[in-house]
Amino acid sequence: MHRHDTIAAISTAPGIAGIAVIRVSGPEALPVTQHIFKGKKLSEQPSHTVHFGKIMEGEELIDEVVVALFRAPHSYTREEVVEISCHGSVYVQQKILQLLLQAGARLALPGEFTQRAFLNGALNLSEAEAVADLIASESAATHRLAMRQMRGGYTAAIRALREALVGFAALVELELDFSEEDVQFANRRQLTDLVARIDREVLQLLESFRMGNAIRRGVTTVIAGLPNAGKSTLLNALLQEERAIVSPIPGTTRDTIEEILHIGGIPFRLTDTAGIRESADTIEQAGVQRTLEKVKEAVLVIYLFDVNTQDPQELQGTLVGLQTADNHLIPLGNKTDLLASASRLDAFRAIPGVLFLSAAHEPDLEPLKRRLLEAVAGQAPRENDLVVSNVRHAEAFRRTHELLISIGESLSTGLSGELLSQQIREALGALGSITGEVSADEILGAIFVRFCIGK
Ligand code: GDP
Repeated sequence: MHRHDTIAAISTAPGIAGIAVIRVSGPEALPVTQHIFKGKKLSEQPSHTVHFGKIMEGEELIDEVVVALFRAPHSYTREEVVEISCHGSVYVQQKILQLLLQAGARLALPGEFTQRAFLNGALNLSEAEAVADLIASESAATHRLAMRQMRGGYTAAIRALREALVGFAALVELELDFSEEDVQFANRRQLTDLVARIDREVLQLLESFRMGNAIRRGVTTVIAGLPNAGKSTLLNALLQEERAIVSPIPGTTRDTIEEILHIGGIPFRLTDTAGIRESADTIEQAGVQRTLEKVKEAVLVIYLFDVNTQDPQELQGTLVGLQTADNHLIPLGNKTDLLASASRLDAFRAIPGVLFLSAAHEPDLEPLKRRLLEAVAGQAPRENDLVVSNVRHAEAFRRTHELLISIGESLSTGLSGELLSQQIREALGALGSITGEVSADEILGAIFVRFCIGK
């Protein structure tokens, strides 16, 4: 870790743009910039001011720029920070960066600005990770999750849980000091209750992960149905683009195709699948197998059937087979334009929640979209809910949960105070790893490489 050197990087997206921002952070940020900047004397300027000037390479004018100053500790990294806004040509950006490096700055590693912000106490670990999520967020819902986490998220909740456990650990350790006297400071009954209470909260946070993760990665939505039911046609209609190959030959969608569809700010990860049916073709069989796996993992399953050829009795059976403990099934009758008689639909109307459309003929997709949104809206986090959306956090909560179970067992079997305090320490460690209160260097490294350079 080189925390005392000065780093620089282009912070805006690579490529041509109106303007670009080059960020410099570290003790030498001002002198390094001044070296190539013709304008005011930067070291004499107060924090949070902007200054027009010229970037020169010797006698040659490279660009006219605006320099913003954030003096330590009033900056993102808490160090001296200069942000140079230059014209967006790739040449100008690269040239200025190169000049800064020649003047003594070092090229920043991915995420190094945020890493410094964390190391200097400006952000805790889960807030720093939220910065990465924010940069990567592609939908309104993901953005909201990241913003909430960045503003503190469940930091307060974790702190409260840890404090309760620390108090508990202290009592148990006090007992160890008096082990000859065989006293119990920590009331075992109260401890058992406390552990159960903490575990309930941890479990609640863990449960929020399923939805939080769905929102981050897209709610898994599978379009299933017999070959030729019109799955690809429906997917195309939903995406309004010819992504999947529409073909009248049964079984042509051999593999799965995934696309993201945004409805009401929530991303749905749509998967078109190979038809569910017995098949002799081995490639297609593999496709059918994958379909069933996808259905098992999916939060939402749209089961598409041809209203003209589908047997209503058989449909009931298929739907029962597709239902899992935690998915949401939407039966959808297709090809209503080909109906010989409208009364044919009556046989399907008994199926709860069934919808109808003609996917090939500019269908009205609003009812289907509304149904998709409703299915997750009930579970979607409300404004002030705590939501775990980060895999690393979910793992830490899962580990905490396992340790709490062990602690509960130790308490009921009257295990020695030494082992108990060891288990409590481990649980504290697992919880603390989320906010970085105890953080191994490897965890840090793994987190900050997720960033792009310049952040
Ligand atoms: P998949 O095998 O389930 O993906 O089915 P496709 O989307 O490839 O569609 C199979 C055939 O049904 C194609 O010829 C489509 O044009 C046709 N098709 C799909 N939806 C409709 C519809 O609403 N009405 C009619 N008449 N034909 C449709």
